[in-house]
Amino acid sequence: MAKVEIKVECHSCGGTGLYKGFAEPPETAVVCHSCGGSGCEILSGTPFTHRKHKRGIRWVMNDGGLWMVRNGKEKRYPVEEFYKE
Ligand SMILES: [Zn+2]
Repeated sequence: MAKVEIKVECHSCGGTGLYKGFAEPPETAVVCHSCGGSGCEILSGTPFTHRKHKRGIRWVMNDGGLWMVRNGKEKRYPVEEFYKE
């Protein structure tokens, strides 16, 4: 499916084009660094239609914890159960 683009309000300034934090003097704002003052940003991606299967996966862990402390005994369940939901 073709990618689409949608123009949305800038996530940083809420569509105002201006940013006011603690460091700015009273009643003074700076031009939003994220959108350059336009107040908008473009989101692009492929429209979601359905969840796709991930190739080569047979098991799913809900939370495997941090990878460096896994011991191989984490609870897991068949990927078919995951896609049934
Ligand atoms: Zn902005």
